[in-house]
Amino acid sequence: MKQFRNRVIRAGLGALYLSGAHLLLRPIFSGVGAIFTLHHVRPRRPTPFEPNHHLEVTPEFLRATLHHLRSHDIDIVTLDEMHRRLIEKNFARRFACFTFDDGYRDNRDFALPVMREFDAPFTVFVTSDFADGIGRLWWVALEKVVAAASLIEITIGGVPCRLDAATPAAKQAAYNRLHDWLRALPGGYDVRREIGALCARHGIDEAAICPDLCMNWDELRPFADDPLVTIGAHTVSHCNLARQSEEAASQEMTVSRTRIETALQRRVLHFAYPYGDRIAAGTREFALARSAGYKTAVTTRPGMLFSESAAHMSALPRVSLNGNYQDERILPVLTSGAATALWNGFRRVDAA
Ligand SMILES: [Zn+2]
Repeated sequence: MKQFRNRVIRAGLGALYLSGAHLLLRPIFSGVGAIFTLHHVRPRRPTPFEPNHHLEVTPEFLRATLHHLRSHDIDIVTLDEMHRRLIEKNFARRFACFTFDDGYRDNRDFALPVMREFDAPFTVFVTSDFADGIGRLWWVALEKVVAAASLIEITIGGVPCRLDAATPAAKQAAYNRLHDWLRALPGGYDVRREIGALCARHGIDEAAICPDLCMNWDELRPFADDPLVTIGAHTVSHCNLARQSEEAASQEMTVSRTRIETALQRRVLHFAYPYGDRIAAGTREFALARSAGYKTAVTTRPGMLFSESAAHMSALPRVSLNGNYQDERILPVLTSGAATALWNGFRRVDAA
């Protein structure tokens, strides 16, 4: 389904670009601004099997995006400034925010230098378990398992399966199957148990992944001191909040903030829902983020910001800078809002 959607979106973007339709749609659908979602920023390391490639862009693509925005006279602002403009209905200039989820070390090593070139502020949403070095990045663990294996034997829904993983294409198919299964499991505990068993069976050191990829508190302190950097919260454990009890979901939001505030000695006012799609964040989670006192909370539902977004500060859409579409010709389409309008069936606000 995800692959299918990717194909449709890819085709849709291409068609929009080639037809120039994004320019015609622009006055109606471009909105007042956009919040971009990024994860990793790092140089390309091409390998035949890259199931998480959508989560990374190169420093060059980030630079091209910033250059594009600046050359179109779009302000690059903090989430606080976005909030102010939405509340005050100050839409004299279009604006964009840059947000990076999870707290990867490459945000410091590769994103920060590029953001500095443009004096562009940005927000990093930190998962507190990741900063503690004890987080579970199960999608990376799964990638390592499938990369190492040529055959994966697993019981899915009580049915024993043998998944071929001998070729890049077979690995991708096996990864998709296992990813969809893991995301559909009822709780974080189930995911941890299953991925833990897979790692043990295939010789993957799961515990090493988090400290290898994520900034710890000692690294985050000087990073957070940079005037361009805002730190937001992204839960304690990177769980699917919609699958938690109300109490547990609320704790994930409040405890992660307290831990970041204590460790970094600054207030945390912004939140990003892990995964952030409809399956992971809905009406209940939006209300919980509001009552937890967050000024804004961002989803991964695709969309631009409109004046109406001011009434939905805990359900803000974003535009993904997806590693699978690092083509500079896509940039005018992204900033026109046409691609996300297409996705949203031309609704301006999607916050139910
Ligand atoms: Zn995340």
